[in-house]
Amino acid sequence: MALDLILRNACIGAAEPQIVDIAVAGGRIVDIASGIAAEAPEEDIDGRLVVAGFVETHIHLDKSCILDRCKSQRGTLAEAIAEVAAAKRAFSEEDIYQRARSTLERAILQGTMRMRTHVEVDPRIGLKGFSAIRRLKQEYAWAIDVEICVFPQEGLLNDPGTEELLVAACEQGADLIGGCPYTDSDPHGQIARIFAMARQFDRDIDFHLDFDIDPSRMDLEEVCRCTKAAGWGGRVTVGHVTKLSAIRPERFAAIATRLADTGVAVTVLPATDLFLMGRDHDHDVPRGVAAAHRLLDHGVVCSIASNNVLNPFTPFGDCSLIRMANLYANVAQIGRPSELASCLDMVTALPAKLMNLRNYGIAIGNPADFVVLDCTDRAGAVAEIVRPLFGMKNGRRTFVCPPARLLRGE
Ligand SMILES: [Zn+2]
Repeated sequence: MALDLILRNACIGAAEPQIVDIAVAGGRIVDIASGIAAEAPEEDIDGRLVVAGFVETHIHLDKSCILDRCKSQRGTLAEAIAEVAAAKRAFSEEDIYQRARSTLERAILQGTMRMRTHVEVDPRIGLKGFSAIRRLKQEYAWAIDVEICVFPQEGLLNDPGTEELLVAACEQGADLIGGCPYTDSDPHGQIARIFAMARQFDRDIDFHLDFDIDPSRMDLEEVCRCTKAAGWGGRVTVGHVTKLSAIRPERFAAIATRLADTGVAVTVLPATDLFLMGRDHDHDVPRGVAAAHRLLDHGVVCSIASNNVLNPFTPFGDCSLIRMANLYANVAQIGRPSELASCLDMVTALPAKLMNLRNYGIAIGNPADFVVLDCTDRAGAVAEIVRPLFGMKNGRRTFVCPPARLLRGE
């Protein structure tokens, strides 16, 4: 078979790193071995680390880049929801499309190749966000696989007309259904309705859940109960769960075991959680980030994700998942190389598992999706927030990012 490319001297492998050549033909990986002898265009990457693209499980493209339209003062979750709800009334499909496109392009340039984006649906915005993101999903399929999770940010049972719109979005191809019980007048009622719709349309579920640091009341147990009852293990994710940062180790361990046994995955969103939590403290501010690396120890599937970019929930953002992994490691006080490497897993292989992606990874037969990082080891990638040098999707180059260099005397 004629090869399209041989990537020489790539560092791959999690438990045991190895230096190999990767052969690409017809957009797929057709061989992985040392010293592949064949005539083909080559690129020697000199032992640099290769990952199969970063995997973003939780980002809101539709409400990114709106800081100039909002005037947040307190920095609380309630204020962020209210500010965006007000700004959203002026969104048009074209406006959403333009902002989301710039955020999506930024994510591609940071090496993200798979993405789950949450999209708000309610009677004010209708399906404008969904339609805009669906266009982008198609137009950028050459560089990134996007799945759309429609959800009721401002509540479901308290917001008549929303359920019909969620159903319409599912009928028009929404990939997942999401929930946000903490904004609902009846959180458990919402959880029940979301599971009912998921079963009706055979969709995975992704909840925004338990998003404060008061652990006296949690919806997590109800989500686990419904997951088990529906037989939806491995198909449910909960995001934020910042309440897990506020409980003692014994209760944390019991909940972690329950999550692992039930097949409920967890996404932590460090930039948003750090920005919004603990606002009623004027000193010793709690960090409010769930200990994902400890959940991993119990067998829970976890990812680290971006959530929001340049809006009242998170007035920061460059869409870099390697930076997000570093931020998590820093705030979680992680420094050991094996734990730093597991932070890389939480933006690559683990989110791929969370999203039930069946063709992810550097393996023969998989799509030739690569991101080459300017480093030679996994812990270093996280510790140093290394830059991706270039990326390939289905065997085609999708971006380049040449390394910065000094111009001494030039
Ligand atoms: Zn979110």
